[in-house]
Amino acid sequence: MWLAGIFPQGHPNLLAPAMGALKRIAKPAVEAHHGLPVKVPTFVSTDLPDWDLHAFCREHNWRVWLKGPYYDAARTPTWDSFVAARDALAKVWSTDRLFLQAHVTGYEESVMLAAYRGELLDCVSMRKRDITPEGKTWAGDIAPVQPEFGEPLRAMVRELDWTGGGELEMVRDASGELWLLEMNPRFPAWVHGATIAGHNLPALLVEAAAGVPARKSQAQASEFTRVVLEVPVREDYPLPPLAEPLAGAVGHSMKHPSGLTSLAERLHKSNPELIELVEDMSEGADGAPQLPDSFLHDIGGYDLAAVQTPQFLYLDSTAGTLFERASQRARRLSSNEVQVVSGYSIKTNPDERLIRLALDNGFLAEAISLLEVQKALEVGFRPDQVILNGPGKWWPEGMMPKERLHAVFCDSIADLDRCVAAMAAGEMSSRHVGIRLRTPNVVSRFGIPLDSPMTFGKLVDAVARLPEDSAFGVHFHMASSNIGVAQWWHLFESMLKWCESIERLTGRTIEILDMGGGWFPDDWHAADDDRFARAVERVKAALPGVRQIVSEPGKAMAQPSMAVAMRILEIQEHEDDYVEAVVDGSIAELPMFAFQPHRILRQCADTGALQPLGRGKTHLMGRLCMEHDIVASNVALPDGTRAGDVLIFCDAGGYDRSMSYVFGRG
Ligand SMILES: *Cc1c(COP(=O)(O)O)cnc(C)c1O
Repeated sequence: MWLAGIFPQGHPNLLAPAMGALKRIAKPAVEAHHGLPVKVPTFVSTDLPDWDLHAFCREHNWRVWLKGPYYDAARTPTWDSFVAARDALAKVWSTDRLFLQAHVTGYEESVMLAAYRGELLDCVSMRKRDITPEGKTWAGDIAPVQPEFGEPLRAMVRELDWTGGGELEMVRDASGELWLLEMNPRFPAWVHGATIAGHNLPALLVEAAAGVPARKSQAQASEFTRVVLEVPVREDYPLPPLAEPLAGAVGHSMKHPSGLTSLAERLHKSNPELIELVEDMSEGADGAPQLPDSFLHDIGGYDLAAVQTPQFLYLDSTAGTLFERASQRARRLSSNEVQVVSGYSIKTNPDERLIRLALDNGFLAEAISLLEVQKALEVGFRPDQVILNGPGKWWPEGMMPKERLHAVFCDSIADLDRCVAAMAAGEMSSRHVGIRLRTPNVVSRFGIPLDSPMTFGKLVDAVARLPEDSAFGVHFHMASSNIGVAQWWHLFESMLKWCESIERLTGRTIEILDMGGGWFPDDWHAADDDRFARAVERVKAALPGVRQIVSEPGKAMAQPSMAVAMRILEIQEHEDDYVEAVVDGSIAELPMFAFQPHRILRQCADTGALQPLGRGKTHLMGRLCMEHDIVASNVALPDGTRAGDVLIFCDAGGYDRSMSYVFGRG
């Protein structure tokens, strides 16, 4: 890039591509790839609002890569790892132009090429056979490039007027489809591996440029591997001391010993146009999130000037609408044979207003302790509208209602035996008694395991001990917000298969199927009825005895229903537009900061208008004296923001509310 910046049209002594070619292979779109039999994995710019980036991660099962414009890619399987990697990559490469790309599972292969003034001199294909922990090639096999690939490649090289080496990095998925990860304007590190197999591409390049014929290279093998070799060091060229590790650095300062990161920084400063090479994917977006009108309406109803901050704000019409919509959907999906119903997960937010909304909208109440059962009964639920779940369902002792509950799901075989004994003694009664299954293949500490013949045998024996006068049922719960939406549906299918086996082996009919909660609000409310209707049909077909399908939304209902108001205490401006602002809220009021973004509004002190915060270089730091108390990163405070202004963190009505704690208040 640097050389191309100096010689935009190329230079006779420079065996490297010119600016025009570099622009057309810029990551991530690699515009020049059209014509090659490859696809580019789906990606988004990190200029999008955090809210949308989180949705992208969920959609792609958290199998995503955060990539910079030049080198480096980080897998970010969780929200906090994404936020940390974004900070690190932006700093190391001196650019905010990063992107998130969906992972493609498969085997990695590459094509290396050499070209001179648009003529393809040779190309060769390599499959990685062994890799380093960073995914770099350690061993590989070399093969000729197939004509279906080679012919369009030749056309592409001509069109780009390419000079120099090049590498197309790809993944071949299980169906044989090729995915282009990137095209690098240089020979890859395994270049010598190919010469071992008879393809000396650098020699052909020099031959074309110099007109001096290269010596013919001999193929010694079609595979190569690296070895590590220790060599003596000459006394007159002693080793330098080991670079001093920076305090707290996570390897990044050491990872590019060639000084490339310093070069990137200097190039950006000396020639800001160079960064133009890097695709601007923002399309003018400022990273400000979309907010439902009801948020603005409900927040607008508060006299924020009078609010003691930090303070949770209940969003009345928002909460009402969420429960209404869920109840309407349940009605639409229900039929005479199978009823579809929701159970509100009390632990997610035990606020009485939400429990009452659940009651008024035909929900069941889902409790994981007897105190929660108590709370549901106090708000007005009948015992036969309560589902009791979880490993701690006997706590606190002595509070189990004597009346018939709607459903009880046993979390372990010990729990099942205790329930059986209690029911025999008349200490507990339930219309449905079932088991919670431990999800196979997705790690979970809950439920009865079934993934070995022996544990499955124990489960089948235990089910045989359940009383015949209660209907039988199965429950599973795994948060799709963590494992991703597609993977959740995959789990659902696999659970149906396990349920069929359980029915066959125990002779008991499953009458209630409870699919748990764990839905991110947008995934639950935005999904069309179709997806759920198909799921109902799948249940009917696989388990014809099921009379009721239950889901247990917690955060899908509660999370949007509250916001936290905070005040800015102080604004500190640093060089290069970096801003640090301290607020009177903290992670004690937003304990979910590591798991999900929050859409943030600022109330303009002059007009009272609510303005969403977009993308920028401001970090909002909580009031606590704790290093990790950063409530938002990479946001921009609107012009004119001053100390004393109120910020509203939306999406805080789920576990932020229920798990918030008292800290630093004397
Ligand atoms: C916590 C919990 C839920 C609700 O989970 P959310 O992530 O809040 O939707 C549902 N069912 C059971 C058994 C739970 O433990």
